[in-house]
Amino acid sequence: MLVVMQEGAPEADTEAVINRLVGMGFTVHRSTGVRHTVLGGVGPMDDFDPAALEVLAGVKECHRIVSPYKLASRHFKPGGTTITIKGVAIGTDNVVSMAGPCSIESEDQIEQCAEIVANAGAQVIRGGAFKPRSSPYSFQGLGEQGLQVIRKAADRHGLLVVSEVMDQVQIPMLCEYSDILQVGARNMQNFNLLRELGKVRKPILLKRGIAATIEELLLSAEYIMSGGNYEVILCERGIRTFETSTRNTMDISAVPVLKKLTHLPVVADPSHGTGKRDFVLPMARAAVAAGADGLLVEVHPDPDRAWSDGAQTLNTQQFIELMSQVRAIAGAIGRTA
Ligand code: PEP
Ligand code: MN
Repeated sequence: MLVVMQEGAPEADTEAVINRLVGMGFTVHRSTGVRHTVLGGVGPMDDFDPAALEVLAGVKECHRIVSPYKLASRHFKPGGTTITIKGVAIGTDNVVSMAGPCSIESEDQIEQCAEIVANAGAQVIRGGAFKPRSSPYSFQGLGEQGLQVIRKAADRHGLLVVSEVMDQVQIPMLCEYSDILQVGARNMQNFNLLRELGKVRKPILLKRGIAATIEELLLSAEYIMSGGNYEVILCERGIRTFETSTRNTMDISAVPVLKKLTHLPVVADPSHGTGKRDFVLPMARAAVAAGADGLLVEVHPDPDRAWSDGAQTLNTQQFIELMSQVRAIAGAIGRTA
């Protein structure tokens, strides 16, 4: 940790800060410059709040050097993590595509989706059976019946399933039908849910909250990992900004930032990331070019009649085109898709 004292801070203030740091268990290395005194604290304490030191008299700023997450940190596993599910490896040179409707609507709809997804060469079908909708009057999902039909459709087409878990009580049901459990943006900081997911033996797709920093996303991953479940896939899905041209602002830079900070696989969701189907393809290309290990895309045989998120959902042809362009981009950077 580094504490920078204000220019001209009285010696008594500096000594008071040193005493405080020593009291917290730090060994303090002092560097007295012409203008500023800098105190370097080395010690066992990771769990301190830099803001609590910044309010001390004479302190200009305080910086944490060691990251607050450990298991999710790149240092923990410098070579990166590969998560293999029934032969599909996520976190390798091969970009994995997960696609399907926003919501599971019927057996027929999910069967058609599975066919589109498999024929286009994707490996995982997505589809929500429990939907976190902004309005309580919107379609909330088919629940277990939805999970049954997505499982059947996936098995018929040799696909894996990813589906959202909204609450702890749904975990056993999701584990029964889904290969990957999705934690939605709105639940990224549902710490009780994250803790319970630390106990399951299924990979978790953790989506970034709409107003979450990258550090907060990594701390949420740490919640799951500290419970013993190391199989976490992170997902950039756009964040809320002042911009209104898109539903969210797709933070493409989060992809390389995450790849640097963590060993966990990183996927990108250009559907929620933009909210408009015209922008899904270019953002998918950009995410893969930026180093994403996979994509999560909404596709539907008839997007204009989709029960949720139709505006950002691709039709069959658009998805085929996306897959072909993603393959080209992956090839250009020495990867496959
Ligand atoms: C979804 O994937 O359909 C979804 C609700 O995503 P998010 O949690 O990112 O909004
Ligand atoms: Mn959706």
